[in-house]
Amino acid sequence: MIDTSLPPSLWADTATPAEDHPALDGDADTDIAIVGGGFTGLSAALHLTARGVKPVVLEAAEAGWGASGRNGGQVIPGLKYDPRELERMFGAETGGRMADAAGRAADLVFDLVAEHAIDCDAVQTGWIQPAHAKAHLKDVHARVEDWQRRGAPVDLLDREQTAALVGTDVYAGGWIDRRAGTVQPLSYARGLARAAASNGATIHARTNVTGLTRAGDRWRLETPKGAVTARAVLLATNGYTDGLWPGLRKTVIPLYSMQIATRPLSENLRRSILPEGQAASDTYRLLTYFRTDAAGRLLIGGRGPFKDRPSSADAAPLRKAMHSLFPQLGDIELDFRWAGRVAVTTDHLPHLHELAPNLYAGLGYNGRGVAMATLMGRFLAELATGVDPKDVPFPMTRPKQIPLHFLRRPMLMAMVQAYRLRDRLDRI
Ligand SMILES: Cc1cc2nc3c(=O)[nH]c(=O)nc-3n(C[C@H](O)[C@H](O)[C@H](O)COP(=O)(O)OP(=O)(O)OC[C@H]3O[C@@H](n4cnc5c(N)ncnc54)[C@H](O)[C@@H]3O)c2cc1C
Repeated sequence: MIDTSLPPSLWADTATPAEDHPALDGDADTDIAIVGGGFTGLSAALHLTARGVKPVVLEAAEAGWGASGRNGGQVIPGLKYDPRELERMFGAETGGRMADAAGRAADLVFDLVAEHAIDCDAVQTGWIQPAHAKAHLKDVHARVEDWQRRGAPVDLLDREQTAALVGTDVYAGGWIDRRAGTVQPLSYARGLARAAASNGATIHARTNVTGLTRAGDRWRLETPKGAVTARAVLLATNGYTDGLWPGLRKTVIPLYSMQIATRPLSENLRRSILPEGQAASDTYRLLTYFRTDAAGRLLIGGRGPFKDRPSSADAAPLRKAMHSLFPQLGDIELDFRWAGRVAVTTDHLPHLHELAPNLYAGLGYNGRGVAMATLMGRFLAELATGVDPKDVPFPMTRPKQIPLHFLRRPMLMAMVQAYRLRDRLDRI
């Protein structure tokens, strides 16, 4: 049983207030029901209202309680694979459409923020991917060329430019993607919820969906204090997917990522670390990501233990990483530490499924879900309102359960050790 109170975090402390979304109490009937109130579910709800539907969102805790209210707030376009790789994997047409759509995903976030006046400290200042080793610069060059060929505003950074923009000389170079930016993620989630609700969506917080069955040509969703019947259902539960739909949980591996945030930095420190306000995540297999927030705190994140509420001892490796990147921070105090689940897929791609007639799921953003979950929410809204799957840029895939899913923790630990070793070898 998951603790559904909002865990302490920088975002919980500084977010715009949540609107009250009462728990479902009684039965309801709707055209489209959405399970999960993170970016996927809330974006789906908002896009459905734009298509004339008044959906019902059922969320076990509160809007943004899951990964959406706990992430790094880095709004990064694109996928793990570069456009040319997607074209190789899916063919020129489908791969090209996927790359174009994913490349525009950050713009979708910033457009929604502007259109619905969402107060979430959104800035489109860009994202830097610094290369941890010279050997990775070849990939970085290819990536930049690939996106530039498509007209994307991206540039290579040499070692000196990277050091000046990031504030550390540990990286061999990198690239900047100017389509990207940052948001206060919990405020963004709450803003999506507010916009969806004011356009006609109904959101029920504290409403865990415990059963999903077919009732004639409709779906029936059981909750502790009532049931909802719907023509179509969207499952938007990602790393917090439970046993609601048999097997869906086993299509992703929930990893934990954790972050720490410092006190607001002094003016001098602010000028020396990410002085132009970009977000960054490096090319290590066990990557480190960092940014500053609106108050000038430095946030740094990376892999965490399997816990929603990490201890200060759990934060030690991140603190060490922070000091080796930015020794100028000295013994700065940390104000916050927190963690959440990242849903990872074995092919490193997000998945869009039709699980049964009029039952769709979108999940598995592999740590790149601020922009992608927002985009997948739009795709889910399109599919549920009759758009031909062929006209949705991402292909629908069959859900594949990951073999030996019950062994995921030991397997992950082994994978982490292997990645750590390979990351070390890269630097030799
Ligand atoms: C620490 C951390 C840092 C990250 N940093 C970044 C970043 O900087 N940039 C980036 O792009 N991505 C990042 N990510 C990934 C990103 O946060 C996620 O991909 C994205 O938020 C997923 O949104 P979602 O709506 O699909 O899932 P979630 O936000 O996890 O929402 C799922 C919701 O489903 C609800 N739910 C589950 N089961 C039920 C049920 N039976 N009934 C009712 N409700 C249910 C849960 O309560 C939860 O609120 C990070 C993730 C973490 C954890």
